[in-house]
Amino acid sequence: MNTLDGDIKKILLTEEEIGERIKQLAQALNRDYCDKSPLFIGILRGAIMFLGDLTRATNLPLEVDFMAVASYGSSTRSSGVVRILKDLDEDIRDRHVVLIEDILDTGLTLNYLLKNLKTRQPASLEVCALLVKKERQEVGVELKYSGFEIEDTFVVGYGLDYQERYRNLPYIGTLKEGIMEQGMD
Ligand code: IMP
Repeated sequence: MNTLDGDIKKILLTEEEIGERIKQLAQALNRDYCDKSPLFIGILRGAIMFLGDLTRATNLPLEVDFMAVASYGSSTRSSGVVRILKDLDEDIRDRHVVLIEDILDTGLTLNYLLKNLKTRQPASLEVCALLVKKERQEVGVELKYSGFEIEDTFVVGYGLDYQERYRNLPYIGTLKEGIMEQGMD
């Protein structure tokens, strides 16, 4: 049978490890936003699983909105030139906003998004990213909440894709050689 698991070389973070870390992040958010009704903005499509599990783990009276962006570049590296494919439905002026992102790689995508969102005058704007690639950041992004630091390697699963596949894996892992040969830099 053609299974997704068969394409995975190594599991970096198990479902249990991700779940445990999300509980800790949710506790920090519960504490920091205890007297607020924040707006969590999920960046499509990679943040879908993280946003779902994180919001369920908090008990805040939060609201959810989404943005979809496309970063010009190859299939595994972003260029920093970002195009908004779907903008927010909500007005974020005077709102306490938490941007929920799957992974901070070069930081170019988040840097663009933060600049864009700041012009809309939110009361506060913080970032919560599940993964951060060590020593990859080209631009400084202030990251208040982050899940895990990982090596500079391409990962899939738990929302993260390679050519739109593997998002539905419950864990995060690397792909076997051969699968990524096409489309690499
Ligand atoms: P950045 O602009 O380089 O920080 O890239 C951020 C975006 O690139 C993420 O939101 C992902 O969509 C994508 N990305 C970066 N690294 C990976 C990876 O290892 N797996 C899957 N997508 C990734």
